[in-house]
Amino acid sequence: MYIAKEERYEKMIYNRCGKSGLKLPAFSLGMWHNFGSVNNLENMKKILFTAFDNGITHFDLANNYGPVYGSAESSMGRILKSDLMPYRDEMIISTKAGYDMWKGPYGDGGSRKYLTASLDQSLQRLGLDYVDIFYHHRPDPETPVEETMYALDQIVRSGKALYVGISNYKKEQAKEAYRILKELRTPFIIHQPSYSILNRWIEEDGLKDFLYENGLGCIAFSPLQQGILTGKYLNGIPADSRIGGKKSPYLHEDALKPELLEKVKELNQIAENRGQSLTQMALSWILKDGKVTSVLIGASRPEQILENIRALDNLVFSEEELRRIDEIARG
Ligand code: NDP
Repeated sequence: MYIAKEERYEKMIYNRCGKSGLKLPAFSLGMWHNFGSVNNLENMKKILFTAFDNGITHFDLANNYGPVYGSAESSMGRILKSDLMPYRDEMIISTKAGYDMWKGPYGDGGSRKYLTASLDQSLQRLGLDYVDIFYHHRPDPETPVEETMYALDQIVRSGKALYVGISNYKKEQAKEAYRILKELRTPFIIHQPSYSILNRWIEEDGLKDFLYENGLGCIAFSPLQQGILTGKYLNGIPADSRIGGKKSPYLHEDALKPELLEKVKELNQIAENRGQSLTQMALSWILKDGKVTSVLIGASRPEQILENIRALDNLVFSEEELRRIDEIARG
Protein backbone atom coordinates (compact mmCIF):
# COMPACT_ATOMS: atom_id res chain seq x y z
CA MET A 1 0.00 0.00 0.00
CA TYR A 2 1.38 3.38 -1.05
CA ILE A 3 1.97 6.04 1.59
CA ALA A 4 2.65 9.52 0.22
CA LYS A 5 5.81 11.30 1.33
CA GLU A 6 5.33 13.64 4.25
CA GLU A 7 7.42 16.38 2.58
CA ARG A 8 5.51 16.32 -0.73
CA TYR A 9 4.47 19.98 -0.60
CA GLU A 10 7.85 21.44 0.26
CA LYS A 11 9.30 22.24 -3.16
CA MET A 12 6.50 22.55 -5.71
CA ILE A 13 5.15 25.96 -6.68
CA TYR A 14 1.36 26.35 -6.91
CA ASN A 15 -0.04 28.96 -9.26
CA ARG A 16 -3.55 30.37 -9.17
CA CYS A 17 -5.52 29.22 -12.20
CA GLY A 18 -6.51 32.56 -13.70
CA LYS A 19 -8.72 34.43 -11.26
CA SER A 20 -10.33 31.29 -9.88
CA GLY A 21 -9.95 29.90 -6.39
CA LEU A 22 -8.08 26.86 -7.71
CA LYS A 23 -4.31 26.54 -7.59
CA LEU A 24 -2.44 24.18 -9.88
CA PRO A 25 1.10 22.89 -9.51
CA ALA A 26 3.67 24.49 -11.83
CA PHE A 27 4.03 20.97 -13.27
CA SER A 28 1.11 18.68 -13.98
CA LEU A 29 1.31 15.11 -15.26
CA GLY A 30 -0.39 14.07 -18.49
CA MET A 31 -1.47 10.48 -19.09
CA TRP A 32 -1.77 10.54 -22.89
CA HIS A 33 1.07 8.01 -23.29
CA ASN A 34 2.40 5.26 -20.98
CA PHE A 35 -0.87 4.54 -19.15
CA GLY A 36 -2.73 2.41 -21.69
CA SER A 37 -3.68 -1.26 -21.51
CA VAL A 38 -0.45 -1.99 -23.45
CA ASN A 39 1.68 -0.50 -20.65
CA ASN A 40 3.03 -1.91 -17.41
CA LEU A 41 0.92 -1.21 -14.31
CA GLU A 42 3.88 -1.22 -11.92
CA ASN A 43 5.66 1.44 -14.00
CA MET A 44 2.48 3.53 -14.09
CA LYS A 45 2.31 3.37 -10.30
CA LYS A 46 5.95 4.41 -9.97
CA ILE A 47 5.37 7.39 -12.26
CA LEU A 48 2.21 8.51 -10.46
CA PHE A 49 3.63 8.05 -6.97
CA THR A 50 6.85 9.89 -7.86
CA ALA A 51 4.77 12.75 -9.22
CA PHE A 52 2.53 12.94 -6.17
CA ASP A 53 5.44 12.58 -3.73
CA ASN A 54 6.97 15.64 -5.37
CA GLY A 55 3.95 17.90 -5.19
CA ILE A 56 2.38 17.19 -8.59
CA THR A 57 -1.26 17.18 -7.61
CA HIS A 58 -2.80 17.50 -11.06
CA PHE A 59 -3.31 14.52 -13.39
CA ASP A 60 -4.64 15.06 -16.89
CA LEU A 61 -6.61 12.48 -18.86
CA ALA A 62 -8.99 12.27 -21.82
CA ASN A 63 -11.64 9.73 -22.76
CA ASN A 64 -9.53 8.30 -25.60
CA TYR A 65 -6.07 8.13 -23.96
CA GLY A 66 -4.61 4.66 -24.19
CA PRO A 67 -4.21 2.65 -26.30
CA VAL A 68 -6.83 1.26 -26.29
CA TYR A 69 -9.21 4.19 -26.00
CA GLY A 70 -10.43 4.54 -22.43
CA SER A 71 -7.64 2.47 -20.93
CA ALA A 72 -5.64 5.34 -19.40
CA GLU A 73 -8.74 6.26 -17.39
CA SER A 74 -9.21 2.60 -16.44
CA SER A 75 -5.56 2.42 -15.30
CA MET A 76 -6.03 5.55 -13.21
CA GLY A 77 -9.23 4.04 -11.82
CA ARG A 78 -7.36 0.89 -10.75
CA ILE A 79 -4.54 2.85 -9.11
CA LEU A 80 -6.96 5.20 -7.37
CA LYS A 81 -8.76 2.18 -5.97
CA SER A 82 -5.63 0.35 -4.86
CA ASP A 83 -3.55 3.30 -3.59
CA LEU A 84 -4.54 6.88 -4.27
CA MET A 85 -8.14 7.17 -3.08
CA PRO A 86 -7.08 8.28 0.43
CA TYR A 87 -5.53 11.30 -1.32
CA ARG A 88 -8.46 12.12 -3.62
CA ASP A 89 -9.06 15.50 -1.99
CA GLU A 90 -5.41 16.42 -2.58
CA MET A 91 -5.72 15.69 -6.30
CA ILE A 92 -7.02 17.51 -9.35
CA ILE A 93 -8.15 15.00 -11.96
CA SER A 94 -9.20 16.22 -15.37
CA THR A 95 -10.62 14.53 -18.41
CA LYS A 96 -11.91 15.56 -21.83
CA ALA A 97 -14.15 14.65 -24.75
CA GLY A 98 -13.99 16.02 -28.27
CA TYR A 99 -11.98 13.62 -30.44
CA ASP A 100 -13.22 10.30 -31.80
CA MET A 101 -14.13 7.89 -29.03
CA TRP A 102 -16.79 5.44 -30.14
CA LYS A 103 -18.50 4.43 -33.37
CA GLY A 104 -21.37 6.30 -34.90
CA PRO A 105 -22.44 9.94 -34.93
CA TYR A 106 -22.49 10.40 -31.12
CA GLY A 107 -18.93 9.42 -30.26
CA ASP A 108 -17.07 12.48 -31.62
CA GLY A 109 -17.43 16.26 -31.86
CA GLY A 110 -19.10 18.72 -29.53
CA SER A 111 -22.75 17.71 -29.17
CA ARG A 112 -24.47 17.71 -25.82
CA LYS A 113 -25.21 14.02 -26.44
CA TYR A 114 -21.52 13.13 -26.86
CA LEU A 115 -20.12 15.21 -24.00
CA THR A 116 -22.69 14.06 -21.46
CA ALA A 117 -22.43 10.37 -22.32
CA SER A 118 -18.65 10.49 -22.55
CA LEU A 119 -18.21 11.99 -19.10
CA ASP A 120 -20.50 9.33 -17.64
CA GLN A 121 -18.28 6.68 -19.20
CA SER A 122 -15.11 8.40 -17.96
CA LEU A 123 -16.42 8.55 -14.40
CA GLN A 124 -17.22 4.87 -14.53
CA ARG A 125 -13.71 3.97 -15.73
CA LEU A 126 -12.14 6.23 -13.13
CA GLY A 127 -14.40 4.99 -10.36
CA LEU A 128 -15.18 8.58 -9.38
CA ASP A 129 -18.34 10.60 -8.75
CA TYR A 130 -16.86 13.73 -10.27
CA VAL A 131 -13.78 15.08 -12.05
CA ASP A 132 -12.22 18.37 -11.06
CA ILE A 133 -11.95 19.75 -14.59
CA PHE A 134 -13.86 18.62 -17.68
CA TYR A 135 -12.70 19.91 -21.07
CA HIS A 136 -14.08 20.14 -24.52
CA HIS A 137 -11.00 18.69 -26.25
CA ARG A 138 -11.16 20.59 -29.56
CA PRO A 139 -13.52 22.98 -31.33
CA ASP A 140 -16.20 21.36 -33.46
CA PRO A 141 -17.15 23.51 -36.45
CA GLU A 142 -20.31 21.45 -37.06
CA THR A 143 -21.90 21.99 -33.63
CA PRO A 144 -23.13 25.43 -32.54
CA VAL A 145 -20.72 26.60 -29.88
CA GLU A 146 -23.73 27.50 -27.69
CA GLU A 147 -24.73 23.83 -27.58
CA THR A 148 -21.27 22.71 -26.49
CA MET A 149 -21.01 25.42 -23.85
CA TYR A 150 -24.52 24.72 -22.50
CA ALA A 151 -23.48 21.07 -22.21
CA LEU A 152 -20.39 22.06 -20.19
CA ASP A 153 -22.56 24.27 -18.00
CA GLN A 154 -25.06 21.47 -17.38
CA ILE A 155 -22.25 19.07 -16.53
CA VAL A 156 -21.06 21.35 -13.76
CA ARG A 157 -24.59 21.88 -12.47
CA SER A 158 -25.12 18.11 -12.40
CA GLY A 159 -22.13 17.81 -10.04
CA LYS A 160 -20.07 15.67 -12.39
CA ALA A 161 -17.31 18.28 -12.81
CA LEU A 162 -16.26 21.16 -10.59
CA TYR A 163 -14.76 23.35 -13.32
CA VAL A 164 -14.69 23.34 -17.11
CA GLY A 165 -12.06 24.09 -19.70
CA ILE A 166 -11.50 24.11 -23.44
CA SER A 167 -8.54 22.82 -25.41
CA ASN A 168 -7.09 23.58 -28.83
CA TYR A 169 -9.50 26.52 -29.38
CA LYS A 170 -7.95 29.47 -31.23
CA LYS A 171 -8.27 32.93 -29.73
CA GLU A 172 -11.45 33.93 -31.61
CA GLN A 173 -13.10 30.61 -30.78
CA ALA A 174 -12.02 30.89 -27.14
CA LYS A 175 -13.42 34.40 -26.98
CA GLU A 176 -16.84 33.20 -28.09
CA ALA A 177 -16.79 30.28 -25.66
CA TYR A 178 -15.79 32.66 -22.87
CA ARG A 179 -18.61 35.09 -23.72
CA ILE A 180 -21.23 32.33 -23.46
CA LEU A 181 -19.81 30.72 -20.33
CA LYS A 182 -19.51 34.06 -18.60
CA GLU A 183 -23.16 34.77 -19.33
CA LEU A 184 -24.08 31.39 -17.89
CA ARG A 185 -21.80 31.98 -14.87
CA THR A 186 -20.14 28.62 -15.51
CA PRO A 187 -16.84 28.07 -13.68
CA PHE A 188 -14.76 28.15 -16.86
CA ILE A 189 -11.22 28.56 -15.63
CA ILE A 190 -8.71 27.08 -18.06
CA HIS A 191 -7.55 26.56 -21.63
CA GLN A 192 -5.21 23.75 -22.66
CA PRO A 193 -3.15 24.61 -25.76
CA SER A 194 0.12 23.19 -27.09
CA TYR A 195 3.09 25.48 -26.40
CA SER A 196 6.86 25.18 -26.40
CA ILE A 197 10.01 27.08 -27.37
CA LEU A 198 9.53 25.67 -30.87
CA ASN A 199 5.74 25.96 -31.04
CA ARG A 200 4.61 29.58 -30.59
CA TRP A 201 1.11 29.58 -32.07
CA ILE A 202 -0.52 30.90 -28.88
CA GLU A 203 1.77 33.93 -28.95
CA GLU A 204 1.15 34.62 -32.65
CA ASP A 205 -2.61 34.10 -32.42
CA GLY A 206 -2.91 36.30 -29.32
CA LEU A 207 -4.47 33.47 -27.28
CA LYS A 208 -1.82 33.59 -24.54
CA ASP A 209 -2.42 37.28 -23.83
CA PHE A 210 -6.19 36.93 -24.18
CA LEU A 211 -6.27 34.26 -21.45
CA TYR A 212 -4.00 36.24 -19.17
CA GLU A 213 -5.87 39.51 -19.61
CA ASN A 214 -9.22 37.86 -18.94
CA GLY A 215 -8.21 35.99 -15.81
CA LEU A 216 -8.28 32.55 -17.39
CA GLY A 217 -5.71 29.86 -16.63
CA CYS A 218 -3.47 28.30 -19.25
CA ILE A 219 -1.93 24.81 -19.08
CA ALA A 220 0.61 24.12 -21.82
CA PHE A 221 0.77 20.65 -23.35
CA SER A 222 3.67 18.94 -25.16
CA PRO A 223 6.18 21.43 -23.69
CA LEU A 224 9.05 19.19 -24.78
CA GLN A 225 7.64 18.63 -28.27
CA GLN A 226 6.99 15.03 -27.22
CA GLY A 227 10.62 14.57 -26.17
CA ILE A 228 12.41 16.32 -29.04
CA LEU A 229 13.30 19.24 -26.75
CA THR A 230 15.13 16.94 -24.34
CA GLY A 231 17.87 16.52 -26.95
CA LYS A 232 17.38 12.73 -26.80
CA TYR A 233 17.28 12.49 -30.62
CA LEU A 234 20.51 14.42 -31.26
CA ASN A 235 22.62 11.30 -31.61
CA GLY A 236 20.16 8.91 -33.21
CA ILE A 237 16.90 7.38 -32.04
CA PRO A 238 17.03 5.71 -28.61
CA ALA A 239 15.35 2.28 -28.60
CA ASP A 240 13.10 3.10 -25.64
CA SER A 241 11.86 6.47 -26.92
CA ARG A 242 8.51 7.59 -28.33
CA ILE A 243 9.92 7.55 -31.87
CA GLY A 244 12.02 4.43 -31.25
CA GLY A 245 10.66 1.16 -29.84
CA LYS A 246 7.37 2.65 -28.69
CA LYS A 247 6.43 3.58 -32.26
CA SER A 248 3.98 6.27 -31.24
CA PRO A 249 1.38 6.98 -33.96
CA TYR A 250 1.66 10.67 -33.02
CA LEU A 251 5.41 11.21 -33.55
CA HIS A 252 7.45 9.81 -36.42
CA GLU A 253 11.08 9.75 -37.43
CA ASP A 254 10.34 12.16 -40.29
CA ALA A 255 9.74 14.90 -37.68
CA LEU A 256 13.49 14.88 -37.04
CA LYS A 257 14.45 17.25 -39.86
CA PRO A 258 18.12 18.40 -39.93
CA GLU A 259 17.04 22.08 -39.40
CA LEU A 260 15.09 21.07 -36.31
CA LEU A 261 17.97 19.07 -34.86
CA GLU A 262 20.27 22.03 -35.51
CA LYS A 263 17.94 24.28 -33.50
CA VAL A 264 17.87 21.74 -30.67
CA LYS A 265 21.68 21.63 -30.67
CA GLU A 266 21.92 25.41 -30.43
CA LEU A 267 19.32 25.56 -27.66
CA ASN A 268 21.25 22.87 -25.84
CA GLN A 269 24.27 25.16 -25.79
CA ILE A 270 22.29 27.96 -24.12
CA ALA A 271 20.96 25.50 -21.54
CA GLU A 272 24.48 24.32 -20.75
CA ASN A 273 25.61 27.90 -20.21
CA ARG A 274 22.70 28.37 -17.77
CA GLY A 275 23.70 25.22 -15.88
CA GLN A 276 20.45 23.44 -16.78
CA SER A 277 19.67 20.48 -18.98
CA LEU A 278 17.92 21.38 -22.24
CA THR A 279 14.81 19.66 -20.88
CA GLN A 280 14.82 21.88 -17.80
CA MET A 281 15.42 25.03 -19.80
CA ALA A 282 12.54 24.21 -22.18
CA LEU A 283 10.21 23.77 -19.20
CA SER A 284 11.33 26.81 -17.21
CA TRP A 285 11.07 28.95 -20.36
CA ILE A 286 7.30 28.30 -20.40
CA LEU A 287 6.92 29.51 -16.81
CA LYS A 288 9.21 32.53 -17.19
CA ASP A 289 6.62 35.32 -17.54
CA GLY A 290 3.94 34.11 -15.12
CA LYS A 291 1.30 33.86 -17.88
CA VAL A 292 1.13 30.05 -17.96
CA THR A 293 -0.42 28.42 -14.89
CA SER A 294 0.99 24.93 -15.30
CA VAL A 295 3.24 22.96 -17.64
CA LEU A 296 1.70 19.64 -18.62
CA ILE A 297 4.49 17.11 -18.96
CA GLY A 298 4.47 13.45 -19.95
CA ALA A 299 6.87 10.84 -18.60
CA SER A 300 7.67 7.24 -19.46
CA ARG A 301 9.80 6.75 -16.33
CA PRO A 302 9.79 8.22 -12.81
CA GLU A 303 13.35 9.55 -13.27
CA GLN A 304 12.11 11.88 -16.02
CA ILE A 305 9.76 13.55 -13.55
CA LEU A 306 12.56 14.08 -11.08
CA GLU A 307 14.75 15.66 -13.74
CA ASN A 308 11.95 17.80 -15.13
CA ILE A 309 10.71 19.38 -11.91
CA ARG A 310 14.22 20.59 -11.14
CA ALA A 311 13.48 23.20 -13.82
CA LEU A 312 11.98 25.14 -10.89
CA ASP A 313 15.51 25.78 -9.60
CA ASN A 314 16.09 28.36 -12.34
CA LEU A 315 13.11 30.20 -13.81
CA VAL A 316 14.92 33.45 -14.55
CA PHE A 317 16.17 34.32 -18.05
CA SER A 318 18.32 37.25 -19.07
CA GLU A 319 17.13 39.50 -21.92
CA GLU A 320 20.02 38.18 -23.99
CA GLU A 321 19.08 34.53 -23.38
CA LEU A 322 15.47 35.20 -24.36
CA ARG A 323 16.54 37.05 -27.49
CA ARG A 324 18.86 34.18 -28.54
CA ILE A 325 16.18 31.55 -27.84
CA ASP A 326 13.68 33.47 -30.01
CA GLU A 327 16.26 33.86 -32.76
CA ILE A 328 17.04 30.13 -32.78
CA ALA A 329 13.37 29.15 -32.64
CA ARG A 330 12.56 31.43 -35.62
CA GLY A 331 15.43 29.86 -37.58
P1 NDP B 1 6.05 16.26 -23.47
O1 NDP B 1 6.35 17.20 -24.57
O2 NDP B 1 6.45 16.61 -22.08
O3 NDP B 1 6.68 14.84 -23.87
C1 NDP B 1 6.74 13.80 -22.94
C2 NDP B 1 7.69 12.71 -23.40
O4 NDP B 1 9.03 13.21 -23.53
C3 NDP B 1 7.80 11.60 -22.36
O5 NDP B 1 6.73 10.69 -22.45
C4 NDP B 1 9.14 10.99 -22.68
O6 NDP B 1 9.01 10.20 -23.85
C5 NDP B 1 9.95 12.26 -23.04
N1 NDP B 1 10.61 12.84 -21.84
C6 NDP B 1 10.02 13.59 -20.87
N2 NDP B 1 10.94 13.97 -19.95
C7 NDP B 1 12.12 13.45 -20.34
C8 NDP B 1 13.42 13.49 -19.81
N3 NDP B 1 13.70 14.15 -18.69
N4 NDP B 1 14.40 12.85 -20.49
C9 NDP B 1 14.16 12.19 -21.64
N5 NDP B 1 12.93 12.11 -22.20
C10 NDP B 1 11.91 12.74 -21.55
O7 NDP B 1 4.50 16.04 -23.34
P2 NDP B 1 3.41 15.10 -24.08
O8 NDP B 1 3.47 15.28 -25.53
O9 NDP B 1 3.50 13.75 -23.48
O10 NDP B 1 2.10 15.78 -23.55
C11 NDP B 1 1.89 15.94 -22.14
C12 NDP B 1 0.43 15.83 -21.82
O11 NDP B 1 -0.28 16.89 -22.45
C13 NDP B 1 -0.28 14.59 -22.30
O12 NDP B 1 -0.04 13.46 -21.48
C14 NDP B 1 -1.71 15.04 -22.26
O13 NDP B 1 -2.18 15.01 -20.93
C15 NDP B 1 -1.60 16.47 -22.75
N6 NDP B 1 -1.88 16.60 -24.18
C16 NDP B 1 -3.04 17.23 -24.53
C17 NDP B 1 -3.42 17.34 -25.85
C18 NDP B 1 -4.67 18.06 -26.18
O14 NDP B 1 -5.12 18.03 -27.34
N7 NDP B 1 -5.30 18.72 -25.22
C19 NDP B 1 -2.59 16.78 -26.94
C20 NDP B 1 -1.35 16.21 -26.48
C21 NDP B 1 -1.03 16.12 -25.14
P3 NDP B 1 9.85 8.86 -24.15
O15 NDP B 1 10.67 8.54 -22.93
O16 NDP B 1 8.80 7.83 -24.43
O17 NDP B 1 10.65 9.20 -25.36
